Amino acid sequence: MFKLFRHVFTSMLRKYATRLYPYEGARVPDGFRGKLYHLPEKCIYCGACQRVCPTGAIKVEPNKSWSYDMKKCIYCGACQEVCSEVIKANAIHLTKHFSMVHPRLTEMPRVVHFKAGGGKAEGK
Ligand code: SF4
Ligand code: SF4
Repeated sequence: MFKLFRHVFTSMLRKYATRLYPYEGARVPDGFRGKLYHLPEKCIYCGACQRVCPTGAIKVEPNKSWSYDMKKCIYCGACQEVCSEVIKANAIHLTKHFSMVHPRLTEMPRVVHFKAGGGKAEGK
């Protein structure tokens, strides 16, 4: 009984182990691979990211356009690695942003960027 009271009392004095997400930001560890951002102004449309992507989420038309299908991505980071370490373009970044809830799979965006400028996001 004493152990139980001690446990309850010490728990009351401790900080919360949980957070009031989404009212409070969540902490994610270093190296976390979240939402992918592509910087069209840095991209040279070489196609290396498409070749290493294991799920076919990226499509590059050499020297024309770059597109990314979020619902196919498994956030492995291979595209970011090849773009920054081999191509040295730093055009892909996997951020710490993880909140990507969509009611339907079909509403997950497919992002298209064109070399000539401009871009569009299909879906939400
Ligand atoms: S590897 Fe980088 S520079 Fe090459 S197409 Fe992909 S995002 Fe663009
Ligand atoms: S993180 Fe992996 S699965 Fe997603 S686009 Fe890049 S290479 Fe493809």
